[in-house]
Amino acid sequence: MSLVENIIRADVRALSAYHVPDAKGFLKLDAMENPYTLTPALQQALAKRLSETALNRYPVPNYLAMKEALKTNFGVPDGYDLVLGNGSDELIAMISIACAKPGAKVLAPMPGFVMYAMSAQFAGMEFVGVPLNADFTLDKAAMLAAIAEHRPEITYLAYPNNPTGTLFNAADMEEIISAVGDSGVVIVDEAYQPFAQTSFMSRLPEFSNLVVMRTVSKLGLAGIRLGYMSASAALLQEFDKVRPPYNVNVLTEAAILCLLEHADVFEQQAAQLRSQRSQLSSQLASLSGVEVFPSAANFLLIRVSNPKKSETYGNEVFTKLLEQKILVKNVGKMHALLQNCLRITVSTPEENAQFLHAFKLALD
Ligand SMILES: *Cc1c(COP(=O)(O)O)cnc(C)c1O
Repeated sequence: MSLVENIIRADVRALSAYHVPDAKGFLKLDAMENPYTLTPALQQALAKRLSETALNRYPVPNYLAMKEALKTNFGVPDGYDLVLGNGSDELIAMISIACAKPGAKVLAPMPGFVMYAMSAQFAGMEFVGVPLNADFTLDKAAMLAAIAEHRPEITYLAYPNNPTGTLFNAADMEEIISAVGDSGVVIVDEAYQPFAQTSFMSRLPEFSNLVVMRTVSKLGLAGIRLGYMSASAALLQEFDKVRPPYNVNVLTEAAILCLLEHADVFEQQAAQLRSQRSQLSSQLASLSGVEVFPSAANFLLIRVSNPKKSETYGNEVFTKLLEQKILVKNVGKMHALLQNCLRITVSTPEENAQFLHAFKLALD
């Protein structure tokens, strides 16, 4: 046996690394990034703030100032604290580590965010995926049956869901949270909250097993890597024990404190993207052979079909977009329900027009 075989878990060796395609020279519409960069005035303010930051010191581990700023800006209920992560990806990993008792299970609707299943596997937990309905709404009966059968320690509900954009029915979610009860936590992942304008954050006091998770990534700050979650003090206290002590760095802290003083800029961008979403959605829906699914996020999931083409027509369209230097996400292979589906990030009016032009050419 080789060194690698001797020491690395078989299931890790069998994985392929999370593939991020090189997007140099492409119109990048695959990762739900906000297309707007900082204004010159904001760049100046941020440069000053960052230059004044003491890089020789560790972060102050309680992150009090940053937590206060996040709580006031993002509607965290009075008396509720936060745990911070290096992106919400790290929060997902922390929750998995904290809950990974022998035999513990993680449950989520499918298709869903890939990190839920990945982090379950990394922590040695079984992942149970429950298919959505064909229109990507929650199959409540199947969810309740799976919860009764598996009694999962962790249940994820992305609100709205990625890669489908669906905003699940809130009453169905309440029933699921109640059905899980004291046997598990339900993580409502609100990564796309700025585009959905609805939230479970204010409802934390109603459910002792509810965790609301957010990130600043999709709001326009994917590069600074900051996620936060709120829940009862009893739960947060335990999750915080597995957090690496200095997981959020001082530059991220300085940047968010500076930028939250200009939160209105990001809210305006989100409003523009919401209006672009409805415009792009109706433009796409008017094309023959294109089905657009309702989205409450900053992306659109579409299905392409053409009776004269192959059963994997989606791949052809994806390749023809690539040839025109346009990168979207080909999700057709992710799940049986996603056959011939593409996921497209909503961008500026100019970039959306460029996409639409290329897409029409790609369809024939
Ligand atoms: C993008 C995304 C995240 C990850 O956000 P980061 O804070 O950038 O790690 C989490 N959940 C869902 C559903 C996402 O789509």
